[in-house]
Amino acid sequence: MKISDRLAAIKPSATLAVNAKAQELRAQGREIISLAVGQPDFGTPQHVCDAAKAAMDEGFTRYTPVPGIPELREAVAEYYTKFYGAKTCGDNAIISNGGKQVLYNLLMALVNPGDEVLIPAPYWVSYPAMVQLAQGECVFVPTTADDDYLVTIEGLEAARTDKTSVLILNSPSNPTGCCYTQAQLEEIAAWARKNGIFIISDEVYDRLVYAPFEPASLAKTWEAYPETIAIVGALSKSFCMTGWRVGYALAHEDLVKAMSKIQGQSTSNINSITQKAAVAGLSGPWEIVDEMKESFVRRRDLAYEIITGWGAKCPKPDGAFYLFPVLDQFYTEDAPDSAAMCTKILEEVGVALVPGSAFGDDKCIRFSYAVDDETLIDALTKVGKVLTGK
Ligand code: PLP
Repeated sequence: MKISDRLAAIKPSATLAVNAKAQELRAQGREIISLAVGQPDFGTPQHVCDAAKAAMDEGFTRYTPVPGIPELREAVAEYYTKFYGAKTCGDNAIISNGGKQVLYNLLMALVNPGDEVLIPAPYWVSYPAMVQLAQGECVFVPTTADDDYLVTIEGLEAARTDKTSVLILNSPSNPTGCCYTQAQLEEIAAWARKNGIFIISDEVYDRLVYAPFEPASLAKTWEAYPETIAIVGALSKSFCMTGWRVGYALAHEDLVKAMSKIQGQSTSNINSITQKAAVAGLSGPWEIVDEMKESFVRRRDLAYEIITGWGAKCPKPDGAFYLFPVLDQFYTEDAPDSAAMCTKILEEVGVALVPGSAFGDDKCIRFSYAVDDETLIDALTKVGKVLTGK
């Protein structure tokens, strides 16, 4: 079978590969606990489901405008005004199939062949593949656990060249859960602006930030400099809507038009019913998110205590639902890297995790705490036995 050269360098998603291996073992009758999940373990809020049912009953089942129905685009604009004080309007919003398609469309619209895209590492698994598909060059900017996995201006400056065109920022981060403060985001935005670098700010976990950390966003900065930033959001994580596929961008009107052109020739509008559900989600009530956050804070603290109890270095995250400890001190001759160690853990004690190599840091392993407390403690106790022998 002849497959295009473009795909030769693209790796399949590592998270999906772990899930496939776990499924295989389950099919063999093994009991497997997955801490590899990238989605909340809660249901979609009832009022969101009700809005979808009403849309179906009303026959709202046809094509819609490519960038989304006006009321949803307005709801996105209002969201950024409500939470971040950014004055904007529906023309600056585009609705796509999850945060993932928003990111893909943005990179396709912004990157020319050979342009360099700065990606702080560790990074979310799909950024490098998307940059490659857009024929850009990935330039990774390393960060360390000691710095809470946050890039500094010095680090960015060392990676910058004349070809740098885009920086992808992600806060709260997948895989680390670490977050930039408002001041840090603004400092990076000022540096990028000075150097003519466009920022894609991936904020899909923006509602999952834990007190006392203050939620931060580049939305307000976007209002002042709309040609220099695009904000990426989604209902997947904060509204437990991963399967519905709804993400959005806040961007300059010209960029929204460019992204619509790509979307119009590839996927058209997202599901019409999902759009009505998304309007209900974005319009509130928001208590459901607060309840979910309470559980996540408790589980984060539980997991953090157990993992650091192994003697592992691990910044305590302020958002999302992941921990990204440094575990290479436990690698062995038969499990010398993160992928081999994850396979060993899966085979020996039936716990699925994602190797740090998938996120650009082989010293680490990603733990998701989007499971109930009992399962989390059970899984971590088992992993601890493999790693420390205790
Ligand atoms: N950005 C980050 C950092 C993510 O973790 C994810 C999903 O895991 C996405 C974007 C894509 O989100 P969605 O499921 O809405 O496409």
